[in-house]
Amino acid sequence: MEQVRVRFAPSPTGPLHIGGARSALFNFLLARKFGGSLILRVEDTDLERSSRESEENIMASLRWLGIDWDEGPDKGGPYAPYRQTERLDIYRQYVDRLLAAGHGYCCYCTEEELEAERQELMARGDLPRYLGKCRDLTPGERQELERQGRRPVIRFRVPEGRTVTVDDMVRGQVSFETDGIGDFVIVKSDGIPTYNFAVVVDDAAMRVSHVIRAEEHLSNTPRQLLIYQALGLPVPRFAHISLILGKDRTKMSKRHGATSVVQYQELGYLPEALVNFLALLGWAPEGEQEIFGMDELIKEFSLERVAKNPAVFDMDKLDWINGYYIRMTPVERLAEMAIPHLQAAGHVPVDVTLETRRKVEQVVAAVQRYLTHMSQITEFAPLFFADEVEIDPEAAEVLGEEQVPRVLELFREKLTAAEALEPDGVKALLKSITKELKIGGRQVFMPVRAAVTGQVHGPELHDIIPILGRERVLNRVNAALGKM
Ligand code: GLU
Repeated sequence: MEQVRVRFAPSPTGPLHIGGARSALFNFLLARKFGGSLILRVEDTDLERSSRESEENIMASLRWLGIDWDEGPDKGGPYAPYRQTERLDIYRQYVDRLLAAGHGYCCYCTEEELEAERQELMARGDLPRYLGKCRDLTPGERQELERQGRRPVIRFRVPEGRTVTVDDMVRGQVSFETDGIGDFVIVKSDGIPTYNFAVVVDDAAMRVSHVIRAEEHLSNTPRQLLIYQALGLPVPRFAHISLILGKDRTKMSKRHGATSVVQYQELGYLPEALVNFLALLGWAPEGEQEIFGMDELIKEFSLERVAKNPAVFDMDKLDWINGYYIRMTPVERLAEMAIPHLQAAGHVPVDVTLETRRKVEQVVAAVQRYLTHMSQITEFAPLFFADEVEIDPEAAEVLGEEQVPRVLELFREKLTAAEALEPDGVKALLKSITKELKIGGRQVFMPVRAAVTGQVHGPELHDIIPILGRERVLNRVNAALGKM
């Protein structure tokens, strides 16, 4: 196999989205699998919307996911620079070649003229496209238009009456008629190239072997192929990966929940879980296995098993995968992730002492198996950190049962007398109450739980009580008894 050189080419106009992250991941996996190179190319030709801040954010999200690249604006490489706005003189050379060979021409049409043409075509039920008014201007006509102060764009002269076929590794052969395309702009009037032109120059100049990108670019590909042909450049292989849909089968958007990687990071998802989930968005492994670490993905991934049909972003599945990873992750790391959430909710001070850290680790251990992402720790936090608990209606009902005062009083007595609290001791203590009062376990556990946690469901009581410590538990029991 030829040397694999792939690229991820984000436009730095916002955070890294789920779709972009998946494209980056598929490129990364292919590069690592075949010992190739991943290029990070920043496509910042939209001067108004691009920013260095977005570029930094995108890179930070990629790094967080464990996707690293071999060449890029921060790393340099044999085909630097890797930011399109720093490559303008390179594009200029290719534009000159196109103009000299008659594949490009200056167009002086104003926005208003173009809009009028669009309207007219649509009114006729025709495809809106540029009809080529400036295609064959004479030098005299050009001079006159320039004299009027018009600044031209450069358009690509699309050959008429041809079929362009994209040979796509995911979609097979997809054909487009050039007559529907219309001469498109390759350089704007400010001298900045458009995406379709710059992407071809760069993919060729950077010796890209495979272009793996989102399906929405498939319709751009015939334009790009025409430019490759006009410039006589070798064409890379294309793989257009499916759209990502929400569970309701409409295009993934903010309505469906978090759409950027950093949002998932902030919600306390683990990067390896998100990577695992993203890999399954469009790629299907051979067997039934669903949990894959990065190394396994690198080994197993192949473009042949990337599906043509749309991928559905199933949040429940992400939560399931993340919950799985949470249960496999050491509490020290989870505590580290939990602390900012606990601080934001005011349960943990800004300066975290060793003692606080140990307590957070115990809390995490007690609730680990209930969490699908770490920010949920705050739902459990009052249980462990608040001085008083709020008794919810279900718990209040339990506390109204007639055996409750006897149970709580005996519990208080035994707890006061108990030596150091640890889970097994608490289990034994609760059990001894059922024996002494000759009542069922439920009649003991439920009221103790209701008094201590304010709820009837939750983590194991014998885990909660040692974490809370004697004093807090006694306070809560006293508060409940005081209300009776
Ligand atoms: N800058 C383009 C985007 O972000 C890249 C498309 C491509 O990979 O060719 O959509």
